[in-house]
Amino acid sequence: MVDLVAQYQKIKSEIDNAIASVVSNASFINGPAVKSFQHNLEQFLGGAHVIPCANGTDALQIALMALDLKPGDEVITTPFTFAATSEVIALLHLVPKFVDVDAHTYNIDVNKIEAVITPKSKVIIPVHLFGQCADMEPILAIAKKHNLFVVEDTAQAIGAEYTFSDGTVKKAGTMGDIAGTSFFPSKNLGCFGDGGAIFTTKEELAKKIRIIANHGQTTTYYHDEIGINSRLDSMQAAVLDVKLKHLNDYSTARNKAAAYYDKAFANHANIATPARFEKSTHVFHQYTLKASNFDREKLIAFLTEKNIPAKVYYPVPLHLQKAYNLNGYKKGDFPVAEKLCDEVFSLPMHTELSDEQLQYITENVLQFFK
Ligand SMILES: *Cc1c(COP(=O)(O)O)cnc(C)c1O
Repeated sequence: MVDLVAQYQKIKSEIDNAIASVVSNASFINGPAVKSFQHNLEQFLGGAHVIPCANGTDALQIALMALDLKPGDEVITTPFTFAATSEVIALLHLVPKFVDVDAHTYNIDVNKIEAVITPKSKVIIPVHLFGQCADMEPILAIAKKHNLFVVEDTAQAIGAEYTFSDGTVKKAGTMGDIAGTSFFPSKNLGCFGDGGAIFTTKEELAKKIRIIANHGQTTTYYHDEIGINSRLDSMQAAVLDVKLKHLNDYSTARNKAAAYYDKAFANHANIATPARFEKSTHVFHQYTLKASNFDREKLIAFLTEKNIPAKVYYPVPLHLQKAYNLNGYKKGDFPVAEKLCDEVFSLPMHTELSDEQLQYITENVLQFFK
C-alpha cells in the first residue's frame, strides 16, 4: 500500500546525516532535533503550538486529559474510523456517542450532531478521514452553541486545508481547541517508528498538555497532576524534520496518483471514485473507492494474485465492535457507516507511484470487470 523504501532512497543522504547527528551527540531524548522539528512544524501549521509525543493514540488521550472531563461525560465522534478514537474515550471512562457519517466525504455528518447532544456532552472529535477535512465550520458553530470542546483527529490529514465561508483558510489540526496527529511510518508524515503530536492554538492548553505528557511535572520531580510518559525521541524527530520539508511535494505526488485513478475509473458502472469535499483540499492518506453490485472480496483476491495490494479501511464500524458496543448500539443505528464498511476498498496510495505502476493497477482493476 505504501513504498517507504523508495521514498527513503530519494532522501537517503539527508536522512542518514540527520540520524548520524543524533547518534554523535547522544541527545536521544528531548535533544535539539526535537526542538527543531517542533519549531518547524509550528511554522508549517501557521503558528499553532506543537507538543510532540509518543504516538497518535497518546496524542488523543492527552488532548482529552487536558480538558478536565469527568467519568461519564460524553464525547461525540464517528463510528467510521480507526479504533484509537473510541479507545482513548473509553480508557478515560468517558462515553463515546457516535454520529453517522456523510456518504460522500466519509466524515461526520454535521446535520446529525445536535440530535445526540445531552447535558453530559463535552467534546466533539471530528476525524479528518483519508486526508480530507471534516466540515469544521458548522462543527465549530455547534460546539460554541452547546459549550463543547473540539478535538480534531488529524492523524490522516496533516497538511490538508479547510476554507471557511469568509475565505479564511486553516490547516487541519489548527481549527478546534486541540488536535492529535500520528507519525506512524505509513502516515503522510511518517517517521521510522512510532511518533505523534498534539496541536493547540491556545497558550494555556499548550502549557497544560506539556505537563501532562511529561508525568504531570511542572518542574523536575514536582508532580502537580497525574500525567503520562509520552515522548517523541530525537531520532524520530530528526527523520520527521527532514521529511517535513518534502511534505508539500508528497501531497502533490499523492494528488497526482489520485487524479490518475480518478480518470481511469471515471463513470465506471461498479466503482465510485472518492468524492472531493469542496471546502477542503485532499492529501490522500488513502484512495478509497466504493464498490457496488459485485463481490469486493473477489476483486481483492484477484488483485492480490497480480501482486497489487488492496485493503478495506474499515471493515467493521466502531459501534459494532465488541469492545465499543457500549450504549446498546445495534446494526442499523448508523446505516451510512455500515454500508461504507461493506463497500469501500483502498488501492495503493503513496508518494512513489510511477505512471507504469498506476497503469498496471488500473488496467487490472478494469480487467476484473471484463
Ligand atoms: C493512525 C491513526 C491513529 C493512531 O495513531 P498511532 O500513532 O498509530 O497511535 C488515530 N486516529 C486515526 C484516524 C489514525 O489513522
